[in-house]
Amino acid sequence: MTLSNAAQSFADTHPELEALRVPCLSCVACKLAGTRRNVVFGEGDPDARVMFIGEGPGEEEDRTGRPFVGRAGQLLDQIIAAVQLPRASVFIGNIVKCRPPGNRNPEPDEVAACDGWLLEQIRLIRPQLIVTLGNVPTQWALGTTQGITKLRGQWGEFKKLGTPIAVMPMLHPAYLLRNPVRTVGGPKWQTWQDIKAVKARLDELGSKPADVVLEIEQTTLF
Ligand code: URA
Repeated sequence: MTLSNAAQSFADTHPELEALRVPCLSCVACKLAGTRRNVVFGEGDPDARVMFIGEGPGEEEDRTGRPFVGRAGQLLDQIIAAVQLPRASVFIGNIVKCRPPGNRNPEPDEVAACDGWLLEQIRLIRPQLIVTLGNVPTQWALGTTQGITKLRGQWGEFKKLGTPIAVMPMLHPAYLLRNPVRTVGGPKWQTWQDIKAVKARLDELGSKPADVVLEIEQTTLF
């Protein structure tokens, strides 16, 4: 396998995350393996302070093997750039790494077969904050059945790896494309409040401590 310069330097400096990519790219643990074109592992800073978690790859992501590169992804880039968070400074991933046909929601058995990859990514990256985009990742991260319209904008906690990590649930950018209302109370206005809260919390937290260790607990495994 020949790696690009960027991928090579990533592999050199973060061998564990890179090592995880290899088996992930050939995963056949669920039925989505039968219809995907590419596994979308996720991308960004392997030492990111904030991780954005979406539902699953769409058509463009399946075609390119990269997360959030379609229209929703371009909007996500604009949202994070609005608070001076360049895409390369965060890590962007998904609950399921393969495209659900027709962009349907991932099914519970697919999430259960796939979320070990995401847990391991979170463990290795040790983000200070997690932003969940839409219902499926929010419910996964917070262990709730409440909907995103109730939960968005309120800090929650991700507790699956021991040390809790603050979670900001936000509306999915695909929802904003369908409902682009920017006036006070509208979905784009809500997202603007939420991303500003993320930026303020990052500024408050300051740089990432070196000594946080996250562990996969037995209870999340069996
Ligand atoms: N929607 C998602 O949830 N994830 C992607 O990677 C793209 C669109």
